[in-house]
Amino acid sequence: MAKTKQQCSETVYRQHEWGRSPCECNGVVREKGKWWCKQHTPSAVKARADARIAKRAAEGANRERNWRIMTTEAAVLKAAIEWRLHKQTLACLEVAIDALLDTRKAPGSTERKH
Ligand SMILES: [Zn+2]
Repeated sequence: MAKTKQQCSETVYRQHEWGRSPCECNGVVREKGKWWCKQHTPSAVKARADARIAKRAAEGANRERNWRIMTTEAAVLKAAIEWRLHKQTLACLEVAIDALLDTRKAPGSTERKH
């Protein structure tokens, strides 16, 4: 049986070579009318890119949430100091605390620790 090996259609940069040269891996997936190795299969490339984008977005959202918590915590501290020093009404402190509690239970909170 004639087992013709297909080569991956992608071109890659290699060390000590000028420009791009064909990927030397065997094409194992046929997509968009061409053969690709597992790494360069367009749908796999897109899936990896999408996953990267989703990860960055999640990290950005997490940073933003942490920043909001920090600023509301600072507001609580400020309100507490105002209350202590100037005997302002407890309502100011309560408002600040409520804002902090709201921020802490904001949706999309993924307090992952790496
Ligand atoms: Zn390849």
